[in-house]
Amino acid sequence: MIHKRKARFRVLIARARRWRMPRDGVIYAGCGVVLAMLALCGYALYQSREDAIARALDSTRDVATITERDIARNFELYALSLQAVADGLRRPGVLDSPRLRREILFDRAATGQYVGAMVVIDALGNVVIDSDSDVPRGGNLSDRPYFRIHREAPDLGLDVSAPYNSRLRPGSRSIALSRRLSRPDGSFAGIVALGIDQEYFTSLFADLRIGQHGSVSIVRTDGTIIVRRPDDRHVTGSDISKTAFFQHLLAKDEGSLIASSPLDGAERLYSFRRIPQLPLIVLVAEATDDIYAGWWGRALTIGSLMLIFGIGVIVLAAWLGAELRRRQRVEHELERLAGTDGLTGLPNRRALCETLEREWLRARRTGSVLSLLFVDIDHFKAYNDTYGHQAGDVALTAVARCIRRVIQRPGDCVGRYGGEEFVVVLPDTDAAGAGVVGENIRVAIGELGIAHQGGEFGRVTVSIGATTSRSDRVTDVSVVVRAADEALYTAKARGRNRVAQMGVG
Ligand code: GH3
Ligand code: MG
Ligand code: MG
Repeated sequence: MIHKRKARFRVLIARARRWRMPRDGVIYAGCGVVLAMLALCGYALYQSREDAIARALDSTRDVATITERDIARNFELYALSLQAVADGLRRPGVLDSPRLRREILFDRAATGQYVGAMVVIDALGNVVIDSDSDVPRGGNLSDRPYFRIHREAPDLGLDVSAPYNSRLRPGSRSIALSRRLSRPDGSFAGIVALGIDQEYFTSLFADLRIGQHGSVSIVRTDGTIIVRRPDDRHVTGSDISKTAFFQHLLAKDEGSLIASSPLDGAERLYSFRRIPQLPLIVLVAEATDDIYAGWWGRALTIGSLMLIFGIGVIVLAAWLGAELRRRQRVEHELERLAGTDGLTGLPNRRALCETLEREWLRARRTGSVLSLLFVDIDHFKAYNDTYGHQAGDVALTAVARCIRRVIQRPGDCVGRYGGEEFVVVLPDTDAAGAGVVGENIRVAIGELGIAHQGGEFGRVTVSIGATTSRSDRVTDVSVVVRAADEALYTAKARGRNRVAQMGVG
C-alpha cells in the first residue's frame, strides 16, 4: 500500500517536472495578478467610500439632534411664557394697572438676546398690551397671518409663524410664537405673541460643522423655510411643500436621505428631525462633493499608482513571456540539432534509435509488422581514396537526400547509422513492401550516376539488407537490427549493388 502511494507520488513529481508553462501562460498569469489586485484595490476604495458616507451620516445626525434639542428647550420656555400671559389675563384687574400687568403677566416671561417683545392683541387685531412699553406700540396687526390663523383655527395651540419683517423692531426679521386667547364662552378674544429674532437661529448655526457646501435649515411642517444657513439665495420664507423632497421629510419623525436640494440643486446627504410639540423640522446636510472630496483624492492617488503598477506588471509579464518563448524556441532548436547529423541533415544515430524504439513499441501494441533497411555504400573507402574526403562528403550527402526522396510514407524514416551506412525504418510494411522500397532506393542511387572509378560498377551503388518482423514474435529490437546487418552482409557477399532480405521471428 505504502509502495503504491510512493509510486503514485513519484509519478506526480515526474509529471510536475515535465510540466511546461503554456506559450502565453506568463502574460495570462500577469493579467490575472493585475486583475486580482485591481479587484482588491477597488473593493478597498469602495469600502472607504462607504466609510466616508457613514461618517457624514453620523455627523449630520448628531448635529441635527443637538440643534433640535437646543431649539426644543428654548421654545419650551417661550411657550411657558405665553401660557403664563394667557393664564394671567384671566385674573381680575390685570388690564387696568400697568404695574400689575408687568408683575403678573410678564413676571415669568422669557428674556434673552434674540427674544423680542411679548404682545397681547385683541380680537380686532389691536395691540393692547406690550411687554416693552406701557403704551402699546405697533397699532393694528390683524393682517398678520399668525393673527388670522388663530382666529380661524381655535384648536391650533402654539403656532410658529413664517418669517416676517418686524414692525415693532424695524429692520429685524422675526418669527412669531403665538397662542390664542379665548373668552369664557370659547369665542376668539385675540392672541398673545412673542417675536423671536431670526438671529437666534443664525447664531445657533454659526458654529456647526457642516462642510463648505453643507446647509442647516428649519422648515415648518407646511413647507415654509423659516431659516437656512447659508442664505445666499434668500430662500427664507419660500415654500418647498410641493417638492418630493419635502414629502420625504413629512413621512417620518427622523431620518436621512441623499437628494438634490430643491433650492440650489446640489446633491447632499440630509439628516432631519421633527422637533417634538412644534411644527418644525431641523434639516442638516453635508454636500456629497464635500463628503467625497478626501476620498476622491485618495482614490485618484491609489488608482493612478495601481494603473502604473498594473501596466508595469503586464509589460514585465509580456517581456517574460516573450523571453520564455524565445528560450523554448532555442531549446527546441537545440533538441533538434542534438538529434541531427551535421553532414547530411538526417536524424543521427541517437535520434534514429529513439525512432526505432518508438516504432517498435507501437508495432508491438498494434500487432503490426515493422521492416528495417540497412543501406551501405559500396567501396566507399576506395571512393574517398580516389576522389578525396571532401568529394566523399558530397556523395554521402547526395545519397542521403536520395534515400529521403524515395521513402514517401509519412511514418517512414531514414537516419545515418554511422560512416556510410543508413538505416530506413518502415513501420507497418511487410517483407514484400520492404523489398520494393529497398529496390527503389538501390535503383535511385545508381541513377544518380555519381562516378566511382574505384568500384566495380563505375558509379556509386549501395547494398541493402532488409528484415521484416512481427514485434510479438521477437523480444528485442536489437535482434531486428542485427538481422538487417546480416542481410546486408549477405548482399555484399553476393556481389554488392543488391538487396538481400532476411526474415526474423
Ligand atoms: P564495402 O563495400 O564493403 O562497404 O566497402 P567500404 O569501403 O564501403 O567499407 P569500409 O567499412 O571498409 O569503409 C567505409 C568508409 O567510409 C571508410 C571511410 O573512409 C568512409 N567514411 C565513413 N564516414 C565518412 C564520412 O563522413 N565522410 C566521408 N567522406 N567518408 C566516410
Ligand atoms: Mg560500411
Ligand atoms: Mg561500404
